[in-house]
Order: sequence, then structure tokens, then C-alpha cells
Amino acid sequence: MSSLYDVLGVSNSASTDEIRSAYKALSLKHHPDRPTGDEEKFKKVQEAHEVLSDPGRRSQYDITGSINGGPSMPPGHPLSGMAAGGIPFSFMSGPFGMPEVHFDMGDMLNGMFGGRQPPRRKAPVGPNKVHEIGIRFVDFYKGREIKLKFNQARKCRVCDGSGATESEACEPCHGSGTRTMLRQIGPGMVAQTQSSCDACSGEGKRTKRACSACQGKKLLEAEKQLDIQVTPGMRDGQILPFVGECSDSLEFEKPGDVLLRLQCVEMPDTYEWKGDDLWITTTISYAESVLGFTTTLSAHPSGTHPVVSWQGGPLLHGAALKREGAGMPRGDGKGCGAAYLKIVITPPPLTPWSSEDAAKLQSVLGGAAASMNSTGDALTFHS
Ligand SMILES: [Zn+2]
Ligand SMILES: [Zn+2]
Repeated sequence: MSSLYDVLGVSNSASTDEIRSAYKALSLKHHPDRPTGDEEKFKKVQEAHEVLSDPGRRSQYDITGSINGGPSMPPGHPLSGMAAGGIPFSFMSGPFGMPEVHFDMGDMLNGMFGGRQPPRRKAPVGPNKVHEIGIRFVDFYKGREIKLKFNQARKCRVCDGSGATESEACEPCHGSGTRTMLRQIGPGMVAQTQSSCDACSGEGKRTKRACSACQGKKLLEAEKQLDIQVTPGMRDGQILPFVGECSDSLEFEKPGDVLLRLQCVEMPDTYEWKGDDLWITTTISYAESVLGFTTTLSAHPSGTHPVVSWQGGPLLHGAALKREGAGMPRGDGKGCGAAYLKIVITPPPLTPWSSEDAAKLQSVLGGAAASMNSTGDALTFHS
């Protein structure tokens, strides 16, 4: 039996154009109304053209050698109709021609229902990209506009991202952008899968004349500026999305989002930022812990150097003193959180009290000084 290519008198690798012109010439020649007419040949030419002019059916025919692509499924069968619809999987008997074979139908169906759509040439949206951006502690407090410049690739507008001002159908895939492959899934059973054509990266066409604007690269890079509004109430680690600001790429229809993660920098070592509040490690002397103190928060992000004082009695090491409104701006714009002074007490001088000082302390604190009333064995200082 002669192949469909033989019927049209073209080679297996004939282009769509070649097939079309061979078909036109032969239909005229064999048309039954003509003196040279031959109805039988005319029908065969029609049939060959019908198959070979359809990239999907042509691939199927190239592999199976059959116009129908293998035995057809009975109507109502879950697999019937799918092959005809050009889905990525169709089934036929394998090289050994064994119609009754056992294989995992569930596995096969999973594969099918996972891939019912024809393979996409491009994924719709590219991945998002997270960039860390350092924001000064004071800028979190006061707010700031920051301009971020970077190189962004965009589809060339001259060639609309095709890289070509003139193109032709890809030969290996006959312009379909997909190629059909066979995979053995069981004895005598072969699954037919379609995948993107390597030769044209699934585009279905190849460059005849490269675009001069992008030199055929399809993408052009340009400097892009993002305006970042850091407003009071934003948080360390907060993410600001810039939709579709990733570079265009050849793999995706649309670029992903640029996600900027704000990262607090230049925060004083003694500061800790928790929610709306600030925890400020405040070191005071032993005397101040007993007698009270006044201190200036010189590193406070407001820049106003707030003065705070404590006269409320002796403090223990690790105590916290609260000052409302001296924390970070709240997210809702209603004032600020609190500042907590975390008290660290430096040890008192390690020199023994003079008997005079001890007497003074005794008069304030009460009790009896050991030196005045020693009855036990003497201890020595261990450092
Ligand atoms: Zn191709
Ligand atoms: Zn271009």
C-alpha cells in the first residue's frame, strides 16, 4: 500500500506549503470532471491531504502508519473521543499485536487525567522572586520613599517577542509545535505522548529573518525603577508585592511578581522590636537602682531624644519599666506602642564598707551589720 506521501508525490519531510501545492495540482489532474479524471485517485488525494495538512493527524500518521491512529474505541468508552480530540495520550496495540494485556489501568488513567489538556507551549505565569531590601530602623519609624533600580527584560515590541520579522513553519514538527513520542506502558501496549518540539521550542515556527531591534533575542533589557513607599507602621520582614515586575522570559507567558521583603537594618544593639513595642536594654548603676535615675533615649528612632526617669523605689536586675507611646508606630496609624526599659544593674564596687558607711546603711535599712556582731568562724572573700 502506498503511503499518503506517495499519493501526493512528496517526501516525508515535506512542508505544509509543499503538501498544499501538490494537493492542488493532483486534485485538478484527477478531478472526475476532467478528461484526465480518475475518481479513485481523486479520493485518495483528498484523503491524503486531509491527514497531512493537519499537524496533529500527520504526527499520528507518521508514528502509527494509520490514518485513524490505531483501533478506535467503542463509543461511550472512557477513552473514546479523546484520541480524536488530539489529547496527549492515545492508545493502540503495540508491536506484538496483543490485544489482551494486563496493566495498571489506574496508573494509566491518572496519567491521562493529569494531562488531558494538550501540552502548553508556555507556562502561564513565571515564578515570583523575593528580594531582601534593607530599610533603616529610623525609616521604619518615620517612613521613607525609596527608589530601586534594576535591569528588567521585556518582550521586544518590534517583533512582539518572536525574535523574527519573518518566519516559516518548523519542519520537524510541521508547524504544530509538538512532537509525538511513544512510550511502552505494558506488554504490547504503547502510550503516545506529545511534548514540546525541541527544534522550535514549541513555537511551531522558525526564524527566517531575525528582528534587528533585539538581534533575534526576543527580549530587551531596560532599566526599571520601583518606587517603594515605606510608611510608618510597616514591619520588619513585611513583604511588598510588585505585580508582574519580574523580567519577561521565554518560558512563561507572563512574568511573576517581584516581592520585596523589608529587612530592618541599623537598629541599635540595645533595641529589640516586638510588634508595636520597643524593648530597650538600659544599664544603670547599683546606686541608681536603689535611688532612682534619669536617662536620655539618645538612640530612639524618633530622633527626639526622649528623657525618661524613675523615682519609684529600688529596682531589681531584669525589671522592666514601661513608657506608653515611646514604641514604634502602630499599623493602624493610631499613635505608637510602648517602650519597655529592661533594667540591667552594674554590680556595686567590691570594696568592703567602711564601718562608718555600714553604720549609715544600717540606719536606713535596719538590721544588724555582721561586723558589729560576729560570733561565727570568719569567712574569706572568694573571687
Ligand atoms: Zn518545531
Ligand atoms: Zn525583536
